[in-house]
Amino acid sequence: MTTRTWLKGNLHTHTTNSDGDESPQHVAEWYHEHGYDWLCLSDHNHLTILEGTKAERSKWPLLVAGEEVTSRNADGPVHVNGYGVTRVVEASDSPDIVTSMQENIDRIIAAGGMASINHPNFRWSFDDSEMLQAHGYQFMEVYNGHPYSQNRGGGGKASTDGIWDRLLSHGRRVWGIAVDDAHHYTGEFSSTRSNPGRGWVQVKAARLAQQDIYEAMSAGDFYASTGVTIGDMVSNTKEIRIDISPETSPNDGIQAKYTTLFTGQNGRLLYESTSNSPAYRPTRLDTYVRSTIYSSLGTQAWTQPVFVSD
Ligand SMILES: [Zn+2]
Ligand SMILES: [Zn+2]
Repeated sequence: MTTRTWLKGNLHTHTTNSDGDESPQHVAEWYHEHGYDWLCLSDHNHLTILEGTKAERSKWPLLVAGEEVTSRNADGPVHVNGYGVTRVVEASDSPDIVTSMQENIDRIIAAGGMASINHPNFRWSFDDSEMLQAHGYQFMEVYNGHPYSQNRGGGGKASTDGIWDRLLSHGRRVWGIAVDDAHHYTGEFSSTRSNPGRGWVQVKAARLAQQDIYEAMSAGDFYASTGVTIGDMVSNTKEIRIDISPETSPNDGIQAKYTTLFTGQNGRLLYESTSNSPAYRPTRLDTYVRSTIYSSLGTQAWTQPVFVSD
């Protein structure tokens, strides 16, 4: 039997090939030095492929292909990441948000990739009502580390979690990812700048190879995180059980505490647990179940939905 392990990666970052402030080499080195196993350099409308010598590659995580297909002519920004694309995808220039979204998705798929809808709340561009009119995407950003991404919503605008729940409640099979969307690798690191290290995914794969990583993502074999680490996890229609790897706060060494919310149809709370091994058994009444783990340190993790009605 093959053993599969968690492999940490960031799916969204920029370099000097678009509007990032460091070279692809430097960006790759930053992620390697910070413990990432793999990385997608997703420049705006540019496919950044780094081919280094063996010595250079040893200083980088595994680099997987991706592009942020970026439409700027619509009524609001429509950015769709294409993972695993084999050529540059030209962004739609339609003025209509839904048309632009759908054209970007279709072009990503035609280029051999998988589509992910980025930061819906950036400039309050769109929400689930537009996303429900588009088809063919497998992922959405439930967390984006850019300071303009408005993940939490407010003032009548849904949070990215809320948008995700509405898609799932309409029967859509969409996985939620957390990403950096980093642009700033030099100068000060602060909450008002777009720095790396804020959001990532841990993918369960047998090999550190692009194909294995993207296949596991396509199957929903991963979780998204801004700091919470999961050890073991069982996730099927009979049982969802998570072993949280406890952390201590960096300065005083005090153990963090966790609250896990299991939610379902229409975002309804099904069960709340304060255990470090929270578990939930789906019932016949559930359509989908997903969990969000909140740490007292302010970080969180999102597990992928289980579709119970299958
Ligand atoms: Zn973007
Ligand atoms: Zn971006």
